[in-house]
Amino acid sequence: MKLNKDNYFSLEANRHYMSVSQFKGFLPSYEGCEARSMAELSGEYERPNKGAFDEGHYIHAWNEGTLADYKADHPEIYSSQGPTKGQLKSNYKHLNKMIDVLMNDPLVMKVLAGQKEVIITAELFGIKWKIMIDSYQPSVGLFADLKALKDIDGKWWSNDAKAYENFIDHYGYALQMAVYAEIEKRKTGREEWLLPHIVIVTKQDPPDHESIYFDYDAIEAGLQIVRNNIERVKAVKSGAAEPVRCERCDYCRATKKLKHIKHYGELAVY
Ligand SMILES: [Zn+2]
Repeated sequence: MKLNKDNYFSLEANRHYMSVSQFKGFLPSYEGCEARSMAELSGEYERPNKGAFDEGHYIHAWNEGTLADYKADHPEIYSSQGPTKGQLKSNYKHLNKMIDVLMNDPLVMKVLAGQKEVIITAELFGIKWKIMIDSYQPSVGLFADLKALKDIDGKWWSNDAKAYENFIDHYGYALQMAVYAEIEKRKTGREEWLLPHIVIVTKQDPPDHESIYFDYDAIEAGLQIVRNNIERVKAVKSGAAEPVRCERCDYCRATKKLKHIKHYGELAVY
């Protein structure tokens, strides 16, 4: 299957290729759930809260230089009634503010320069993967991923580790950057990894922003997480192993049937 921007996020592409978000979707340590992942891949289930995804698309369209097209294709981002009729809805106005913050920082614009939304596929750990790099600068030795986050300094609760984590660990960004670096290296036949960067802009008012890079140790550590879990993920995705329900996610909640009545002491504190 040949990937392009139109079919990259399709069900067919997800069945054919592994991606970092699909991989994390199988792992409880990233709030993944095998049962939900399999229901999504079969087309039986779609996750709620599409809004956050659309806002990410808006910022990525800016980075790609296609924001004018995006606005033309999405009339729903404009207010349709009242005194603000015809203006961007307030959450999109705020996205413009976030974009301004990035545009006004020369170092950020240097990191985000290069080819945009570059799709690369390669085999890793015996299966085909797909990645899409937001900003790709092989001649400078780096690539970058653009993230819009609630805040940078916050702490995120990990149900799996029963501890607070920073956003890098919580969202598995080092793992994502490691896979991107390795897939790009394999595809190009380059001997060294490109240095992965992420550019973060927060949804705060005023927005905060940061640029972070990952070194080779981080790439090694990220690939080790994939190595440790990939055989199970492959077995479940191929149908060789039964998917386990996490009983915590949106899908498990939506399809829950009680098997027994809990003793009150069984309830988790967390
Ligand atoms: Zn679940």
